[in-house]
Amino acid sequence: MDSILKAMAYDKKVRVYAALSTDTVNQAIKKHNLNLLSAMALGRLLTATAMMSYMTKSESLAVSISTDAALKGLTAIADEKGLVKGYVHNNDYTTYGEDISSVGQLLMPGKLMISRDMGLKEPYTGIIPLVTGEIAEDIAKYFTDSEQTPTACALGTYFDEKGRLLAAGGYIIQVMPGTDDSILKELEQRVSLTENISKLIYDLQTPKNLLDFLFSDRNLEVTGTEKMAFYCGCSKDKIMEKLLTIDKKQLQQVAKEQSEIEAVCPYCNNHYLYNSDDILKLLKDIES
Ligand SMILES: [Zn+2]
Repeated sequence: MDSILKAMAYDKKVRVYAALSTDTVNQAIKKHNLNLLSAMALGRLLTATAMMSYMTKSESLAVSISTDAALKGLTAIADEKGLVKGYVHNNDYTTYGEDISSVGQLLMPGKLMISRDMGLKEPYTGIIPLVTGEIAEDIAKYFTDSEQTPTACALGTYFDEKGRLLAAGGYIIQVMPGTDDSILKELEQRVSLTENISKLIYDLQTPKNLLDFLFSDRNLEVTGTEKMAFYCGCSKDKIMEKLLTIDKKQLQQVAKEQSEIEAVCPYCNNHYLYNSDDILKLLKDIES
């Protein structure tokens, strides 16, 4: 089962979150029928978003990437309990060329946007330009620049030669203000040992093993754990509400022309069918 672990190291000067997200990412691959690079991109983003929402105790945290490059964008939303959903805006990137081999190529240039609902009136939003489009570096840069917290992030997805996902996961490391340079240097060196993060997650198998690999000899203390899963929570009624907020005239037009209207939830790709007479009646009720 997927989970996120929260821990401290170096006498509480360093905090770290580690996740194993294989089932979650496999769910996303199945629901959206993702191509390999789409699966890598969304897998990384889902893993990061779930860790970040848990980390910031957000009721809802949305991370999206907008770009004109082949994937067109990515969106993920998670709550603080590790439930996460998301989608790739254009899964059919293969029409963009044969020589595409990295997630960055499909997302650069682009922007990373983070929107955090803390239960206050307005959500908090931050935007940065993508650095590499490989997602982990971009998220580290976001925290380092926008929130002045030195951050390292690694995200991985490990596939077999048939393109089946065998493991997914990652970590986020943050350093408390005023931490010695010697610790920062050592952290850099340890982070460099995880360069091949995808294979490492596959080999280590659990978030606890990943934490041990990084910091078992540096006062590692696990302070929390949360399950992680792909979960959308949409329903026929909720999607109908969304339908009714779009252009009502256009909806009325379509409902008059067709006996049934199909709507698709972008986050989980569930299809919902509505009787056009019901929609016309609802539109009438709203007007009166
Ligand atoms: Zn849904």
